[in-house]
Amino acid sequence: MKVVTAGTGMAAAEFVQRLRLEGFDGEIVMCSDEEFAPYSPCVIPFYLAGEPMDTVYWKGKDFYGRYGVSARLADPIIEVDAERRLVRTAAGRSETYDRLFYATGARSWYPRPEWLKTRGVFGFKTLTDMVAIDRYIREHGVRKAVVFGGGFIGVDAALALRHRGLEITLVHRNTRVLSQMTDGEGGEFATRKLAEKTGIDIRLRTTVDGIVENGGELSAVRFSNGDVMETPLLIVSIGVSPNSEPLRGDDKGVHGNEQMLADPCIYTAGDVAVTRHAVTRAKGVYATYPNAMMQARTAARHLFRGDGAYAGSINTNVLKKHIDFPIVSAGSFTGETVTWHRGDIWRRVYLLDGMINGYLIIGDTRISGYIYHLYLSRKRVDKTIRAILAEPRHDSYYRSMLGMVPV
Ligand SMILES: Cc1cc2nc3c(=O)[nH]c(=O)nc-3n(C[C@H](O)[C@H](O)[C@H](O)COP(=O)(O)OP(=O)(O)OC[C@H]3O[C@@H](n4cnc5c(N)ncnc54)[C@H](O)[C@@H]3O)c2cc1C
Repeated sequence: MKVVTAGTGMAAAEFVQRLRLEGFDGEIVMCSDEEFAPYSPCVIPFYLAGEPMDTVYWKGKDFYGRYGVSARLADPIIEVDAERRLVRTAAGRSETYDRLFYATGARSWYPRPEWLKTRGVFGFKTLTDMVAIDRYIREHGVRKAVVFGGGFIGVDAALALRHRGLEITLVHRNTRVLSQMTDGEGGEFATRKLAEKTGIDIRLRTTVDGIVENGGELSAVRFSNGDVMETPLLIVSIGVSPNSEPLRGDDKGVHGNEQMLADPCIYTAGDVAVTRHAVTRAKGVYATYPNAMMQARTAARHLFRGDGAYAGSINTNVLKKHIDFPIVSAGSFTGETVTWHRGDIWRRVYLLDGMINGYLIIGDTRISGYIYHLYLSRKRVDKTIRAILAEPRHDSYYRSMLGMVPV
């Protein structure tokens, strides 16, 4: 049997590794629009912050050789012909498959794509982006930057560049940064702490409306309030959309069933996949690394053994790179709130019918593993949750309470 992967990212690498560990000895071809060995996008901000590049290759730089894979790199797949079971690439090549693993992830969405033609304007999504930003910073002696977009990846970008020593202005249209992973009050607390502790200049209710260039190079950006700020570097990170066009003809994602099958011979996983939420059963793209891993493992197991089912995705968010006050959240911010706050620590759960419906923990997140398991357990916690939030012990204590480790 011949297996082809569309993408060489986190989901595809996990899928291939699992297949080989299961004992699959058929032909595997991995295709990517980029030129690298499988890398972890979660780790690329560390590279930009100054860590060696090799740290991004989370399964080893020699992945293709070690797992007996033929790699077709730097040539995007532009079409999947499910009837003929083949993929076509931009360079005019085609590759037939018995099973396709479609995991092309997502790409940055740009309000003004033409800005990227100006030197000094970059996205923040891929290793290709990081290599280009790193080179630009070094060649131009860049000391300051504007980051447009205060979502998870925008904040990740701002923190990495700040860690590298740049002066950062973070521009966000909402009333708080990280608005998708926080509620109003918690998000405002997190925004204040972020500014206080990192020195990042955060401009809320603001967007970047224009850029000023000089000889093809960025010299300044214009904000929605009319202010103009001189800067040699602009990072645009205001959203992503799934790379589903080659398979589906649109960017709405690829629906995977419980076996992660999108079609009898096509598996899908990761940031391109539409799955059900493990608790709410709502369909959506749940674009985090743990979901991608579980989906890839489900697909590999099903391909090799013909059994197994995906339990569903969880919308967890964990921000902890380059800051000493991590932020963790999951679920929905609706229901009765129970909040505990002291100094730099802020914790809130949302209860619905006595069960955790969502939570947000800022500052000291050692408790978050326990809260996560309570959330998944669907147990009533209304009588105990106040004490748990107010008197958190170390995570291992809670794990022992759950029977996960010996007491
Ligand atoms: C900066 C950053 C930080 C992140 N931090 C975290 C974090 O802390 N925690 C967390 O849980 N998640 C984080 N994520 C998200 C996490 O990286 C993704 O959920 C995960 O990588 C999904 O795996 P994937 O394989 O679906 O996508 P990716 O790992 O993005 O891989 C997609 C692959 O498809 C390839 N591809 C795309 N289009 C084509 C095409 N047309 N033809 C061929 N190949 C194609 C790409 O080159 C790539 O190889 C972060 C993401 C970014 C960008």
